[in-house]
Amino acid sequence: MTAMDTVDLHTHSSYSDGSLTPGQIVELAKKIGLRGVAVTDHDTTAGVAEATRRGEELGVEVLSGVEIGAGLDDHTMHLLGYGIRPNDPKLLSLLRLLQEARVERNRRIFARLNHLGIQVMATELPAADGQIGRPHIARLLITKGVVRTIDQAFSRFLRRGAPAYAENIRIPAAQAIEAITQAGGLAFLAHPAGNDPKLQNIEPLLRKLKALGLAGLELYYPTHTPQMHSTLERLGRDLGLLFSGGSDFHGAAKPHMPLGGRAGDRPVPFQLLAAIREGCRIETVPRH
Ligand code: AMP
Ligand code: FE
Ligand code: FE
Ligand code: ZN
Repeated sequence: MTAMDTVDLHTHSSYSDGSLTPGQIVELAKKIGLRGVAVTDHDTTAGVAEATRRGEELGVEVLSGVEIGAGLDDHTMHLLGYGIRPNDPKLLSLLRLLQEARVERNRRIFARLNHLGIQVMATELPAADGQIGRPHIARLLITKGVVRTIDQAFSRFLRRGAPAYAENIRIPAAQAIEAITQAGGLAFLAHPAGNDPKLQNIEPLLRKLKALGLAGLELYYPTHTPQMHSTLERLGRDLGLLFSGGSDFHGAAKPHMPLGGRAGDRPVPFQLLAAIREGCRIETVPRH
């Protein structure tokens, strides 16, 4: 497989917690020879139009995307929506709800930080043309000299269980899948081994999600071992799911996860993007 046949279907831009603009992600994709890229920001589709425009200029295929946190029973998960219409009114209204919840949750995190004696204010965060979350708070804590690294900010204050942590709202997986699907998109389970590295509970979870309209799972991911990859590939095949894959690129915010994956990672074949596009087209045919 040449680089021209590979894609990256999981990236974050400056509209959420990545450091590059959507246009810069596409430029980098072009530079490293990727054939296609999806911008999948947390809780927003605001970067899709810019990426699409730059993709048309540079000849890089851009798949629209979004990443939404959701829950089902005891599980929390991230769902990727591919091929969505970025301005779909119902999808936008769900995303607006999530954005408002983030603002409120950030306030709770700041209240906790203040309670711990740390003088920071939510108004010191960057102007919100995107989704502001814990990574931005971590950077602010560095600027203020409270911690030295992002890791330190998370481990001392912001990770779940740490003293400044506040829970975010979690929408039901059914609602996220429905919002993605009715917007013309396909819903995929992101980094399926994220909370379950031994994949002990993955099969029943995938079955339930599939019954709710899940179209696929993220098979290629930097932390997947060959063992995980083959287990997920078999499960996905058995359940009739599509596959996606990407690096979860965040730019300088996570330098250990480069666009297109690290040397030695399995490259993500272009064929996956083509199959997702095809799936979206079928999904949007009006039913009589
Ligand atoms: P939020 O959406 O505000 O809950 O923040 C979640 C983001 O924080 C995710 O994109 C993660 O990549 C990032 N994150 C979570 N834990 C860590 C950590 N220990 N170090 C750096 N980034 C993290
Ligand atoms: Fe992120
Ligand atoms: Fe994620
Ligand atoms: Zn992500």
